[in-house]
Amino acid sequence: MTTWLDNFLFAVLPGTCILCDAYTRRNLDLCLACEADLPWLNHACLICSIPLPEDDAICGKCLVKRPPFTRCHSVFVYRFPVDRLILNFKEKQNLVIGKILATLLVNSLPRGFSAPDLLVPVPLHKSTLRKRGFNQSAEIARVLSDFWSIPLDTQNCSRVINTRSQKSLSLNDRVANIRGAFDISRNYQGERIAIVDDVVTSGATVAELARLIASKGAGSTEVISIARTPI
Ligand SMILES: [Zn+2]
Ligand SMILES: [Zn+2]
Repeated sequence: MTTWLDNFLFAVLPGTCILCDAYTRRNLDLCLACEADLPWLNHACLICSIPLPEDDAICGKCLVKRPPFTRCHSVFVYRFPVDRLILNFKEKQNLVIGKILATLLVNSLPRGFSAPDLLVPVPLHKSTLRKRGFNQSAEIARVLSDFWSIPLDTQNCSRVINTRSQKSLSLNDRVANIRGAFDISRNYQGERIAIVDDVVTSGATVAELARLIASKGAGSTEVISIARTPI
């Protein structure tokens, strides 16, 4: 949430762009030129948000089988420099970058994108959380929670299995690897839930969590993420 104090401070001490070091002269440490050059996800599957050629609306995978979430909204293709920014945010604890990316996410929400009832960030296993010190998805969700004035649940959803990294796995192996990884200790009563993740890759993680959320009584589930990997 931008306050008059933020605006005053940025007027007196103009922000410095995290990519080119220029003065940004606005309430964000990213200049307009660098913002325009980011790999915006301009055309994507209307359901799972995978980057698509302009004449396709829904990807082949979603045509064959709909994922267990209504839709996914992602802002960027997971490419340079967004990939580096996300790595710096996660692995080097650069929370300023997280705030910038989350602000761009809020600013990119399509007109008519109404607020869900509850935000559920993809939880980290407690050993990863201990090592990293924070959950990057919760940091992103916090900005969305402030923007919409809706609750954020970081307490009732946990990652109970410390899964192997999904990076080197095939799609089938990713689905098997993540199965049963989450637990939710509450029930929902028809709420519209938005899962928040930093990067959606195969979609196996958010699909697993969406299935569990549905089984706990959610009315619908969607996914909001900073970046989406290409096919
Ligand atoms: Zn710049
Ligand atoms: Zn799709």
